[in-house]
Amino acid sequence: MLATPFAPCLKRLSLFVVLCFTAACSAEPPPPPNIVLVVIDALRADHLNHYGYHRDTASGIDDFVASSTRFADCSAQAPWTIPSVASLFTGLNTARHRTNTFGAALPTEFTTVAESLQQNGWNTAAISFNPGVRRELNFDQGFDAFDEFLGKAADYPHMEEMISRTADWFQSPPRQPFFLYLHSMNVHGPYRVPTEASEKVLGRPPSEEFTYYGDLMKGILSNGQLELREQVGDTYLESLTDKYDTAVRYSTDQLAEFFALMAQNQLYDDALIIVTADHGEELFDHGGFSHGWSLHSESLHVPLFIKLPGQRQGGVVESRVNLIDLFPTILEVAGIRSELNLDGSSLVPLILGNGDPDSDQERERLTQTDWDRRCVARGISARGFRLVEIERNYEGLRNVVRMYDLAGDPREEDDVSAQHPQIVQELRRELHRRFDELARAAGPQPENRKGQLDQERLRALGYVE
Ligand SMILES: [Zn+2]
Repeated sequence: MLATPFAPCLKRLSLFVVLCFTAACSAEPPPPPNIVLVVIDALRADHLNHYGYHRDTASGIDDFVASSTRFADCSAQAPWTIPSVASLFTGLNTARHRTNTFGAALPTEFTTVAESLQQNGWNTAAISFNPGVRRELNFDQGFDAFDEFLGKAADYPHMEEMISRTADWFQSPPRQPFFLYLHSMNVHGPYRVPTEASEKVLGRPPSEEFTYYGDLMKGILSNGQLELREQVGDTYLESLTDKYDTAVRYSTDQLAEFFALMAQNQLYDDALIIVTADHGEELFDHGGFSHGWSLHSESLHVPLFIKLPGQRQGGVVESRVNLIDLFPTILEVAGIRSELNLDGSSLVPLILGNGDPDSDQERERLTQTDWDRRCVARGISARGFRLVEIERNYEGLRNVVRMYDLAGDPREEDDVSAQHPQIVQELRRELHRRFDELARAAGPQPENRKGQLDQERLRALGYVE
């Protein structure tokens, strides 16, 4: 469903895709495209001005947005890095890849999107500054080159370092077609940005009142001192939001630099470019911070922009989509026919405006988190509601059900489960049926390598209690 006029370029785009991907076509097909997938860690959709945010956090990428398709309603499958990126890489729901606990290594039995592309001739490279997306947890599967951050401290490199390394790579130059995966960290706590970029949003650097994993945050989340919420005042929350938004602005400005770099190297126009996030971030929306503590929308609603090769005109897709849809989307644009039994489905028909609006609107959305001390919960979005079964969470909840009206209450402030017992019953039945079904089709139990990881670095990032 396209809310923005897109018709003038539809014919050209459709033709392009047909030329690219129809084996029987008589015209000479264009070469297989370079593919770039950018994940900005912890970037929630509603803090980008293209998603209605009141602050200018992303005008640097206006030109890119104007020539790409924006997905208004995209969800991660999990609210923290490891399970979400496992879903992104495998195209599978969490219940099938089972890489859901802290320290779980993605089983090598799965075929990742990088492996599919590598097997079909793509030169595959990744730069990951997230310490979870690393070789030791098997996230390098299918990458010819995997550049990971293995420094000692919590101060992950700034995104400009990533762009600089990419510039070197372009200089080499890389064999084409390539698949490049970039995973930046500045929007992840502690929301650091270089000093010279810290005034872009506010006209001044954010105040230091909010401290990532300072006494208040740590007390509420890690020590269960929920009474400390009373001490969280307006200036503290403003400081939190200011820091987060400053990091968003810095990251999108760096993204613009990256696009300019691609253009300088004549790589921009013909590439498939995807920009998204692995999950969102709670900024005290429900009394907490960071991510992995709930299945609320602020932790799951991620931005998604896709620019097809040659795409010049923008569009908006309102239909519900998921990160697991990216793997089949990439395969379709790459022209790769696959026998893999993926859970998502290609977004190309939605971009071209020739999808089935009814079935697309009802695209399945299952979410899960299984981080023992933070939150263990499963969710389903259907029939206009998000239903969540919380097994346990940091607030002391045990075996409770919550349900929210997606259209009437997008911030999920009012639990309406008591008002709709019949719908609750039906959605719970559907949730159990689907998770049971997925469990029967699941892969092997992942090995847990928590003990082998650098505990000091992970603790500083808030990953270790
Ligand atoms: Zn993450």
